[in-house]
Amino acid sequence: MTGKLNLQGIGMTSRRTRTRLVQRLRDHGIASELVLDAINETPRHAFIDEALAHRAYEDIALPIGSNQTISQPYIVARMTEALLADGPIDKVLEVGTGSGYQTAILAKLIARVYTVERISQLLTRAKTRLGAIGYRNIFFKHADGSMGWREQGPFEAIMVTASPRMIPDALLEQLVPDGRLVVPIGNNRHQELVLIRNTAKGIEQTYLDAVKFVPLLGGKT
Ligand code: SAH
Repeated sequence: MTGKLNLQGIGMTSRRTRTRLVQRLRDHGIASELVLDAINETPRHAFIDEALAHRAYEDIALPIGSNQTISQPYIVARMTEALLADGPIDKVLEVGTGSGYQTAILAKLIARVYTVERISQLLTRAKTRLGAIGYRNIFFKHADGSMGWREQGPFEAIMVTASPRMIPDALLEQLVPDGRLVVPIGNNRHQELVLIRNTAKGIEQTYLDAVKFVPLLGGKT
């Protein structure tokens, strides 16, 4: 990882390959035009090390250093679509900033994005990139995100981009009534992406997809 910003990088072809990626997501069932537009407008290659940037618009997860990965675009789209399915949201918490790509997509669609990452090196790099692209509505915290971000809560939506075995209580506690939480629950063999809704009748859980995320770990480094 060079940490060098790669905003032009692969240049002329990236817009065209991005349009092709959006078409692929549409073909795979992503229907939200808002989400598809956000993906179309976001330079994923800027969130990836230069050596891998030529693969940025393939629908695959890629390594971002520190043993972590940038999520697959289809999953980014699916999770974002699930959070926004009930209408617009003003304030979201993301657990697991990683490269900052998912953060960027959220920040195009939601007024204020609070994002928490436990690996300081990744957080710093994501912050630099997102600042350089021009985002001003993202707030960063270096911490164990399974505790949420209590001072800034409650949140209308929470997205967890690393996999816990069970949903951390702190996240449920920081969700507004009728709030939505998208989280991949499971272990290193089997994970299910689920949508949790905090309704008047209690917690409702809907299965979305089979997924493979890196584990949600405790502490920070
Ligand atoms: N949305 C990111 C996904 C990165 S992978 C992207 O597309 O780039 C998941 C990230 O979650 C990793 O960066 C990992 O360090 C982070 N993570 C894991 N456990 C965490 C925790 N308890 N709190 C905050 N971040 C965590």
